Amino acid sequence: MLLKHKTALITGAASARGLGKATAKLFADHGARIAILDLNDEAARAAAADLPGEGHIGLPCDVTSKPQCDAAAKTAIDAFGHIDILVNNAGITQPLKLMQIEPQNYEAVTDVNLRGTLYMAQALIPHMRDRKTGTIVNISSVSAQRGGGIFGGPHYSAAKAGVLGLTKAMARELAPEGIRANAVCPGFIATDITEGKLTDEMMEQILAGIPMARAGAASDVAGCCLFLASDLSTYVTGSEVDVNGGSLI
Ligand code: NAD
Repeated sequence: MLLKHKTALITGAASARGLGKATAKLFADHGARIAILDLNDEAARAAAADLPGEGHIGLPCDVTSKPQCDAAAKTAIDAFGHIDILVNNAGITQPLKLMQIEPQNYEAVTDVNLRGTLYMAQALIPHMRDRKTGTIVNISSVSAQRGGGIFGGPHYSAAKAGVLGLTKAMARELAPEGIRANAVCPGFIATDITEGKLTDEMMEQILAGIPMARAGAASDVAGCCLFLASDLSTYVTGSEVDVNGGSLI
């Protein structure tokens, strides 16, 4: 039980096969109470009800809206009394090439992945500051490190690279106040974001670039989030942790 008496707020965690839901489940297995945030109220509530243990809540929140982030954070703090852990997981991809990116594509992808990460952190930092404790885990991507991915598009790589910079800035500014911030960079993980978008040939090509020769599972990423959220990592801040089967070796 690594998260007994802890509480966590996880964005984009309603997707049944997603990284956020797997992380929520693992945190709940370790004793945490979870606030699942996602675009759809009903889906968020159903996902929370599906977690092991009691007292979890599901809340509607579009992370691109600062007022919605502030409202959801307040509701979660009121419900649990405190929030120890924030996982900024909500994200979208668009499989475009450089010259196909229209202003609205750029806005949509950077808004969810990068702006949402800032807004949700801003919604909880004053609370964490008051308590002089807290840990923030931001989900970036191998696409940020490689300058490209399979589905994401260059604007996705840019947004996720922005998440890495933002994480380090958060870590630097918040470290003296007892708050840690780290990023997780998943490689190719089988979730709804990847589902049905790959031909056999593409799959073969992807696996050829992964020394472990398999797609990651959502639970692989959840385990890393658990480490960064728990007291196993009390001296870890500003880091980017790769969960990619060796893709960058
Ligand atoms: P997913 O599509 O299964 O889940 C993403 C969730 O984010 C969904 O529940 C969706 O409703 C939610 N969401 C979208 N826009 C939102 C918004 N504006 N406000 C709140 N919620 C919103 O995807 P996933 O694979 O579980 O991805 C989770 C995170 O991991 C994302 O940030 C993604 O970029 C990142 N990632 C995934 C992979 C992979 O291979 N699956 C690899 C690297 C990084």
